[in-house]
Amino acid sequence: MQRETLSRRSVLAIATGCAVTGVGAGTVSGELEEMTSAETGEEDLSRDSVPILEGTVHETTAHVIDAPVDGGTAVVIGGIHGNEVAGYEAAGEIVDWRIDAGTLVVIPEAHAVAVEQGTRSGDDWSDLNRQFPEGADPESDLAQGIWDVLREYDPDVVVDLHESTGLYAGDPVDGVGQAIFHSSGPTAVETATAAADFATEQYVDDSTLAFETGPFSGPNTEPSGLLVHKAARDLDADAYLVETLSTDVALETRVKWHLAITERLVADTVFEDDPDNGHAPDVDEETADQDDDSESSPADDTDDDNGPDDADAPIAEIRPEPETGSELALEAGQSVTLDGTCSSAQTGTLVSAEWDIGATGSFDETGELLEVTAGDNGRDSIVLRVTDDAGRTATESITLSTD
Ligand SMILES: [Zn+2]
Repeated sequence: MQRETLSRRSVLAIATGCAVTGVGAGTVSGELEEMTSAETGEEDLSRDSVPILEGTVHETTAHVIDAPVDGGTAVVIGGIHGNEVAGYEAAGEIVDWRIDAGTLVVIPEAHAVAVEQGTRSGDDWSDLNRQFPEGADPESDLAQGIWDVLREYDPDVVVDLHESTGLYAGDPVDGVGQAIFHSSGPTAVETATAAADFATEQYVDDSTLAFETGPFSGPNTEPSGLLVHKAARDLDADAYLVETLSTDVALETRVKWHLAITERLVADTVFEDDPDNGHAPDVDEETADQDDDSESSPADDTDDDNGPDDADAPIAEIRPEPETGSELALEAGQSVTLDGTCSSAQTGTLVSAEWDIGATGSFDETGELLEVTAGDNGRDSIVLRVTDDAGRTATESITLSTD
């Protein structure tokens, strides 16, 4: 495929073309946000922050998302151990989830001091996840503060996100990574198994990293005093302890695992439909992607690879000129200008637009407009990547076909 330098004339023509459709970049952004909230019911969700141990060194936040539709209550916790990064990073993303029903409470950094330090338990605390004895008061102010939130919301489901440096593989001696430990009861067992299978099928390439499930240790056996133990036995919640392997796996992958598993574990509680519909869009890239803009984008082949769970991520949009569509049928030698000017930042501003011609993984061309001439070799994909001033990215692709 040949590439030509864009001429000033075509820049002007394209800018006009975008305006003629009545949707300048600003307008598009507004419409998309509106459509997103209408489709997801976001305008009906209430989002609240509840401080825990306010004014102390251990101050942290419980985020409470309430849907107007009746449903259950789920609590998701990260950062009980401050060196288990994927757990609290995933929980931090879950704060932005949209739910259909019920209440979702997220405490992303349960042990803020430990998270800050990157240590398991901070300076002056023994292991926080041993301070929740069943049938008795929590054993520290922090444990009490967290427990007060659980008691107030009385969850049906509790998910606690952790990491381990070794693999469980049926034996906790070497580690507990790649496992979902669950409370007793048929629902918890079934849900944990389904979540493990889903995450493994969708997101695990190496079979040695397949997720397994196992029951918690029973009452009066070690380890004891885990938050999930107390949630299951004192509040009668279905409780899950999720452990990913933290060694030799990219953080991004581990976060994705936590998100996928958590989505499945809470699906019956706060999502109305089958979780396949991608309510927690980061998790399911196939279905979740920016479906919201399909009606307003003529070139809707949207592949927003940074995950629409990041509500602030920009939106990449390609408008081909003179044709429209996500697949352009061209004559060999025919030129088309791809217009990225209708891409928009949801927060901040866009700082770059780059193009990958041939979907090679290398974004060699920059600028909001790209003029390309179709070759005679069949099909070529072209990917637009936009980046905002906070470094968030989004992509969209279009296919040129001459066959
Ligand atoms: Zn842990």
